[in-house]
Amino acid sequence: MPSRRTTCPDCDSKLTDIQIIDNDGPHGQAILEYTVGEAQPSMWTGRFPIAGKVNAMMCDQCGRVLLYASDKK
Ligand SMILES: [Zn+2]
Repeated sequence: MPSRRTTCPDCDSKLTDIQIIDNDGPHGQAILEYTVGEAQPSMWTGRFPIAGKVNAMMCDQCGRVLLYASDKK
């Protein structure tokens, strides 16, 4: 996997790692995950199989947020 960009594609300013917060959740911190496009929820658990996590970065200057998939650990 190529290394991630460190500057914003819009304004070329520095990108910073951020955490997405979901204040509706019990602890606030949202753990973003993804599954493949054709995935179906499990018949037994009703949950989708997780293919990996999603990491977020934000531009310090213009506020653009970029999401990157990472492999399941
Ligand atoms: Zn920017």
